[in-house]
Amino acid sequence: MNKTDLYIYNTLKRKKELFEPLTEGRVGMYVCGPTVYGDAHLGHARPAITFDIIFRYLQFLGYKVRYVRNITDVGHLENDADEGEDKIAKKARLEELEPMEVAQYYTKRYLDAMDALNVLRPSIQPTASGHIIEQIEIVKRILDEGYAYVSNGSVYFDVVKYQRDTNKYGILSNRVIEDMIATTRELDGQGEKHNPADFALWKKASPEHIMRWRSEWSEGFPGWHLECTAMSQKYLGEQFDIHGGGLDLLFPHHESEIAQSVCAFHTEPARYWIHNNMITINGQKMGKSLGNFITLEEIFKGDHSALQQAYSPMTIRFFILQAHYRSTLDFSNEALQAAEKGLKKMFEAFDNIKRIKTGDKTSIELDLMSKATEAMNDDFNTPVVIAHLFEAVRNINLLLDGSESITEADLQRFGDDFSTILQTILGLCEQESGNEQNVVNGLMNLILDIRSQARAAKDWNTSDKLRDELSSLGITIKDGKDGVTWSRD
Ligand code: ZN
Repeated sequence: MNKTDLYIYNTLKRKKELFEPLTEGRVGMYVCGPTVYGDAHLGHARPAITFDIIFRYLQFLGYKVRYVRNITDVGHLENDADEGEDKIAKKARLEELEPMEVAQYYTKRYLDAMDALNVLRPSIQPTASGHIIEQIEIVKRILDEGYAYVSNGSVYFDVVKYQRDTNKYGILSNRVIEDMIATTRELDGQGEKHNPADFALWKKASPEHIMRWRSEWSEGFPGWHLECTAMSQKYLGEQFDIHGGGLDLLFPHHESEIAQSVCAFHTEPARYWIHNNMITINGQKMGKSLGNFITLEEIFKGDHSALQQAYSPMTIRFFILQAHYRSTLDFSNEALQAAEKGLKKMFEAFDNIKRIKTGDKTSIELDLMSKATEAMNDDFNTPVVIAHLFEAVRNINLLLDGSESITEADLQRFGDDFSTILQTILGLCEQESGNEQNVVNGLMNLILDIRSQARAAKDWNTSDKLRDELSSLGITIKDGKDGVTWSRD
């Protein structure tokens, strides 16, 4: 296969382009990671899986990939703009924890959920709070270039001047700056800005603000967009190959990252911008206030009123890969049950390859790998790859019942190709299905019932035995205010 054949839809150019890395054989990719103040939900699964597929496929093509995905642990304010409380500091205040406790707890939970989804860990996972000095350096550069101003201890990026000199604000999101100014809401503290479209590079901390660092302008903290400019430049250089993230980050986050790089380093940061589309739930946007906000843990355990059953991480992964990453994807019980069935069929066929009896001729087409790479080379078209795998599943069944035949050497190749596409490229692996999880849930409820009856009857022998035996299986029981809960290692 020829690696120069990969075409990527570049959001910046609004068209598919032949992928040509800056350095032969190497790819630098930066993806915006999670803000760690709550459990990972469905909206986190899609970008993580999308860029995992890209990471895997580039490596499959033979590239050496440096994949950087940041952890936002400071500077992301409630309204995703320049006002409101820091999301992590707010959680810390409500839970009476140090912000770093919140960030580390949810970082671990996020990574555990991503591991369950078989998402490979990036090469580097830098944190915003670990790169304050680098961010301050970039604020200084932008000030020196004349595209930022200090106002009451805060530093703002001068969007209007940038636009006048470069005409670039809006190149990624295709927005018109005049519209942006008109649609920006009047917010508290906006009086510090020369124009409502300007955004914060550095914010002076209010007295109650916990996360703060010293700078020449004030004791404060960096603006949300700045961390990605600082960390991508530090680990991938002033210009690198791919920048990714969810479509919701296109504006203002990514647009502002471009503006910062153009002013600080005189270059746009990335040559290819890739954005995954969003997930809706039964046709609705997901939101805490809409009552359809489902965390990944709830999905894996079937523990939410919108779910008819538990769904395994692999079912979620397969479901996400059945849609092209640039299409919207609607989450429903019907769609997930269909994905669960499809995945089961796929792995049954995969297991059955070893039961195929070989013959002295091959009557099936052996073009599975070339078809799969052709689809992947067309902007990572995973649904088409999956359709080709299902064709192969049909062939496996025909080979099993003797309607088709295959030689031993061809079967070896066919099996290797099937395995490489399924496991290496798509990252699907065999896992307990959601149904098995439902059985586990039922058994656990039964055991916890027996335990609470034993405790009520002061039968400590039985209740201790249950706790110890479960613990030896890696299951921890916790008695809390809201009743008994359990978790697996
Ligand atoms: Zn970012």
